[in-house]
Amino acid sequence: MDGDRFDLAIVGAGLSGSLLALAAGEAGLGTVLIDRMPLKSFTDAGFDGRTTAIAYTSHRLFAALGLWRDLADQAEPILDIRISDAGHDGRPSPLFLHFDHREAAPEGDEPQPMGWIVENRFLRAALLRRLAACPQVELIAPDEVIETRRDADRADLTLKSGRRLAARLVASAEGRVGTMREEAGIGARAWSYDQIAIVLVARHARPHRGVAQEKFLPGGPFAILPMRDGSTGEHRSSIVWTERADLARRLLELDAPRFQAEFARRFGDHLGRVESTGPRWWFPLGLVHAERYIDTRLVLVGDAAHGLHPIAGQGYNLGVRDIAALVEVLIDTKRLGLDVGAADTLERYARWRRADNFTMVAATDLLNRLFSNDIKPVRLVRDLGLAAVNRVPPLRRFFVRHAMGLVGDLPKLIRGERP
Ligand SMILES: Cc1cc2nc3c(=O)[nH]c(=O)nc-3n(C[C@H](O)[C@H](O)[C@H](O)COP(=O)(O)OP(=O)(O)OC[C@H]3O[C@@H](n4cnc5c(N)ncnc54)[C@H](O)[C@@H]3O)c2cc1C
Repeated sequence: MDGDRFDLAIVGAGLSGSLLALAAGEAGLGTVLIDRMPLKSFTDAGFDGRTTAIAYTSHRLFAALGLWRDLADQAEPILDIRISDAGHDGRPSPLFLHFDHREAAPEGDEPQPMGWIVENRFLRAALLRRLAACPQVELIAPDEVIETRRDADRADLTLKSGRRLAARLVASAEGRVGTMREEAGIGARAWSYDQIAIVLVARHARPHRGVAQEKFLPGGPFAILPMRDGSTGEHRSSIVWTERADLARRLLELDAPRFQAEFARRFGDHLGRVESTGPRWWFPLGLVHAERYIDTRLVLVGDAAHGLHPIAGQGYNLGVRDIAALVEVLIDTKRLGLDVGAADTLERYARWRRADNFTMVAATDLLNRLFSNDIKPVRLVRDLGLAAVNRVPPLRRFFVRHAMGLVGDLPKLIRGERP
């Protein structure tokens, strides 16, 4: 395809859009990636203080694309997950659920971590570095799509800068607040949880030993995620602290000593003295799930298709699986000399992704509703539920394999192979 004509035009260079561009470009699809933000801002220290739990199978895709060697030194393995219910005082209930990574390994196989915690700024930097070196991908930012025309033959995009592009297919990776879905008349199930996630980095006296903890407090889950030790050897964890929105706003306005006291009470003392360090970020939480993922020469990926509660740390991992399935479908089509934006190509992608996404959206929604309250009978039932699952090894193994992304019809990249 010549200068301004592409197989694939991706709108949005967040974690999903940039990974899709890299996977598509590496597979040989002429790709353009557009974002309204200057690319340099993505890796600024203040841009995104989150970490992402990269599931075991997402890591296989990263490895297949040669991205993992840039990230391995910055990724902390998740070896155990401990889930417990806790009351207002932050004290965990004696009934809990414990997942051990060794349980998921098939007999005789070397156990693998359930996933890795990676800082988003490192993910973004590694993606941008690889994209800049990929000849099949053109990056355009900052710029914005102001008009899209899609018909049976092609899609035409007009950018704010005045540049015009033509593509076989447009992918909206615009995140949950994108406009292309609505413009295409695709509805969505969407609601707010009236919760805010406060995100920060904690420093603690004792090492975390690769254990990810999730405490269910009355306002929502409080996650303690193991990070790599800091540059001076300090032990660190990434915190995703969900609270009712009104309370979260008041907490964020507290001065440092008061905030630290509230934080330390919820964190507990299992890792010795703990301190909240650096800036605090906050994210309003809600759910959005598109009624369909495709339209004429348009496909939705990542949060543009499904934005979920971070309760299970799976939102991006679903997007990674979208990307693996989409690239496989597109490259199979291109190799046959057929049209990558044709309706039957897109149908294959949509059918492949629907069930996995639907299951995770429903599961995270249910978990959040069940655990983000302090209603005594509900608490009793869920505590007994956690303890019951904890006693049944096959059930524990089932959940661990789901969290690792090992369940279902896995695309090649998710199996660690190039499509
Ligand atoms: C607190 C928190 C913790 C999380 N933890 C985890 C975790 O541990 N594991 C996990 O798997 N997931 C996690 N997630 C989910 C994960 O962060 C998201 O799924 C992921 O970041 C979504 O990326 P995206 O690229 O789809 O969307 P976004 O990050 O929203 O990116 C969209 C991009 O599109 C651009 N854009 C939008 N519209 C246009 C337009 N019209 N023109 C040009 N550019 C446009 C925007 O500038 C932006 O750069 C977490 C989420 C939260 C809130």
